[in-house]
Amino acid sequence: MHPQLELLVTLHDLELTIKEATEDAANQKALGFKIDNLEHIIKAQADIEKQVDHGIIDRYRKLKERYGRPVVPVINSICCGCYIRMPTAQASDTERNQRMSTCGNCGRFLYWVSE
Ligand SMILES: [Zn+2]
Repeated sequence: MHPQLELLVTLHDLELTIKEATEDAANQKALGFKIDNLEHIIKAQADIEKQVDHGIIDRYRKLKERYGRPVVPVINSICCGCYIRMPTAQASDTERNQRMSTCGNCGRFLYWVSE
């Protein structure tokens, strides 16, 4: 996977974890969190953000504000953000994940998942 794409996927995942853990104390218990661990995760999130190119993180934030999920998988050639079918490409899923791609319809960052 493209290193920047991998960072975005991880970043989004961490953001969801932090959101779930901070929503209420009951959730923290359900997730088995200790506050110390949460602080580590928040630090990891900040570290990852620093490694993402400025242009990409700007776009990521705008997409997140607009849609909530800025990075989505493509499954069976369908963008899981807006459910539009991607044009057929010659490249394999692995090859496509080596590039930064965005959906031509909704603009979300994409990664391909093989069945
Ligand atoms: Zn889309």
